[in-house]
Amino acid sequence: MLYCARCMRLCEGPVCPVCRKSDLREPEAKDVCFLTERGQIWGSILEDNLNDCRIPFLKKGRMGAGLAMSTGNRFETFRFFVPYERYEEASALAEELFGEG
Ligand SMILES: [Zn+2]
Repeated sequence: MLYCARCMRLCEGPVCPVCRKSDLREPEAKDVCFLTERGQIWGSILEDNLNDCRIPFLKKGRMGAGLAMSTGNRFETFRFFVPYERYEEASALAEELFGEG
């Protein structure tokens, strides 16, 4: 596993699939890693589960505040990030909830 600091994402190969850059490095324990992107309902279920396991996480709304407001938040999705040292645990949890890795 390599880490793209630009996208805050773990990558399998030598090139980041998102930004196509190859200047990736070994992940460090405190690196913030993208876990998954979910809508509001599954997002809050995941949030509860992460809290239960005491896994620290960051949650970022994908839409700008203005757009989220105009659509009444219905289509808002959230991206979840966890520190690398808890990534394996968090992704196992997400796999259990959503049936994916
Ligand atoms: Zn990248």
